[in-house]
Amino acid sequence: MVASISTPSCASKSSIKKKPYKRASSAPSKWSKNQSPKKRTVEKSQKRQAKISLRLSWPLKRISISRGFGVRENERHDGIDLSAPKGTPILASSGGRVIFSGNGPTGYGNMVMIMHSKKIITVYAHNFRNIVRKGEWVSHGQTIAYVGKTGRSTGYHLHFELRLNRKAVDPMIYLIK
Ligand SMILES: [Zn+2]
Repeated sequence: MVASISTPSCASKSSIKKKPYKRASSAPSKWSKNQSPKKRTVEKSQKRQAKISLRLSWPLKRISISRGFGVRENERHDGIDLSAPKGTPILASSGGRVIFSGNGPTGYGNMVMIMHSKKIITVYAHNFRNIVRKGEWVSHGQTIAYVGKTGRSTGYHLHFELRLNRKAVDPMIYLIK
């Protein structure tokens, strides 16, 4: 597993070992060996896209992407970063059930996880404050938290992840244009 954290702007792979969900064990070792996860990721994403019909709405009203998904300078980023002022409402990308709300794995700060179906989970991290609780059902577009910079974050932003079958994929593929 790649362990270096060169950019302190966001939670990195090495900081999420203790996360409350399991990671598919095969991906990280493959990635670190090949050093070219981009092609692999794209191919897999396209396959998934064909299998799963999923439409997510943006978790913030105004979108400013400060960092995309994937590896940059040998550091993996499991989501996308959306910069926004402190306290900006974070909206559920789709309806579902809150499966985690609290202090996330190291680096994630205050975090909310929503399960939309058995295989589809979205993650919202670095929150200033979470306003939903574990077990709660939320509707599409409902405010679930407010933007902050808790955890490993140098500025106010939302770290947004999409997990399909527990594996992080690029949420941009599924976000409504
Ligand atoms: Zn991030």
